[in-house]
Amino acid sequence: MNLNELTITQAAKGLRNKQFSAVELTKVCLDQIEKRNKDVNAFITVCQDSALKEAEEADKGFATGKDLPILAGIPCAIKDNFNTKGIRTTCASKILDNFVPTYDATSIKKLKEQGMVLLGKTNLDEYTCGASCEHSCFGPTKNPYDLDRISGGSSGGSAAAVADNMCLYSLGTDTGGSIRQPASFCNIIGLKVTYGRVSRFGVTSFASSLDTIGPLTKTVEDAAIVLQAIAGKDPLDSTTPDKEVPNYSLFLDKGIKGLRIGVPKEYFGEGIDNEIAEIVRKALKDLEQEGAILKEISLPMTKYGVALYYIIAPTELSANLGRFDGIRYGRKGEAKAEDLIEQYKISRGEGFGDEIKRRIMIGTYVSSAGYYDAYYKKAQKVRTLIIQDFNEAFEEVDVICGPASPIPPWKIGENENNPLAEYLADLMTIPASCAGITGMSVPCGKDSKELPVGLQILAPQFEEGRLFQVGRAYERVGR
Ligand code: GLN
Repeated sequence: MNLNELTITQAAKGLRNKQFSAVELTKVCLDQIEKRNKDVNAFITVCQDSALKEAEEADKGFATGKDLPILAGIPCAIKDNFNTKGIRTTCASKILDNFVPTYDATSIKKLKEQGMVLLGKTNLDEYTCGASCEHSCFGPTKNPYDLDRISGGSSGGSAAAVADNMCLYSLGTDTGGSIRQPASFCNIIGLKVTYGRVSRFGVTSFASSLDTIGPLTKTVEDAAIVLQAIAGKDPLDSTTPDKEVPNYSLFLDKGIKGLRIGVPKEYFGEGIDNEIAEIVRKALKDLEQEGAILKEISLPMTKYGVALYYIIAPTELSANLGRFDGIRYGRKGEAKAEDLIEQYKISRGEGFGDEIKRRIMIGTYVSSAGYYDAYYKKAQKVRTLIIQDFNEAFEEVDVICGPASPIPPWKIGENENNPLAEYLADLMTIPASCAGITGMSVPCGKDSKELPVGLQILAPQFEEGRLFQVGRAYERVGR
């Protein structure tokens, strides 16, 4: 096995047993990036020199025999919407292509305290708006399992980098599915945390009432390790509650005897690819054999999820993107302007891509005076109904399982003129985002075209431990 193929747990052990050094491990990852990134396009920026320096630091620590944190010396990749001090942070947008932050996001600060080795920044849909990683001014990230297909989005670069062994783990963001869906398309683990579990300070906002941060990893145990390092209250993000972070490793080997799994009939109905439904049903059977109790449930509001999300998310996006005007933030447009308003128009017109412009128009329209009640306010009411759906379901079951995506990864360019088809790809992930609950995608097989399928596991707010419990049990029996 090559060093870059190791999991976090395996690498941490190898480093402590002096089987290899952090510099060696980092070099192997950098070689893989060198070899593969031209085809896969997972990285926007590679930080070769600083990564090697960070690895040297870790090695110095190991040499003193100190008890270092588990992530020390482990090479990782970070989605390019996390502020990284001194390292360009683009959000895959032309308007930010020369932006270098002066401070680190809280999650980056925490990983640095652990001794992380930052290999570089990964590709995404511009400002995380998309489900394909095609809406990037740096070109699409391709799926390592089939280079003609999309990697998923918006954290496509983070997912492909892990899947293709360019790094050992990565961080992404999930607003409506952006971690779970690319993880499922790239055959890795992707964890969307409870809203507020991980600080978002220093991460560019998309939809502030939905945005979350989480890990993409090769195993469930690794996801638990990374979450342990980044979770918790942050005075710089008022949405993080003062709620204890449990010891997640305690959930890994609990087993699932007697655990009640809800299987929503809506997650296997209209719009779901037959093969995917079948593969996920087989995974549920495997869990049943491990002692879990399957129970059919109904989440009747599921069908409204996409519609309400595409009102709420663009509204919040259009407000959040107001600051990117070429003056406060972002590149100033090249064309000559007569006045300030024209200058804004030129900078934003040149700087934003088509999908972002589309969403700013939708968001501004549905939240404008006269339309606010009919659209935005109504959408918020439906959101409450979705929350109630989950609350009722979780009175009867411990977790809910279904597919992470209704369809397999599509061909690059296939939906270029059909944004709605791409929006519908979020059918299975959006409801959990609207309810602020936690969810994880775990690889559960491949379809007849050898394309990966992900099992989505959902749990109530702050019950990430249950996801690790079920995910790990499945890893053992499934596949
Ligand atoms: N695909 C969804 C969208 O385009 C979700 C994106 C995300 O979670 N950031 O909005």
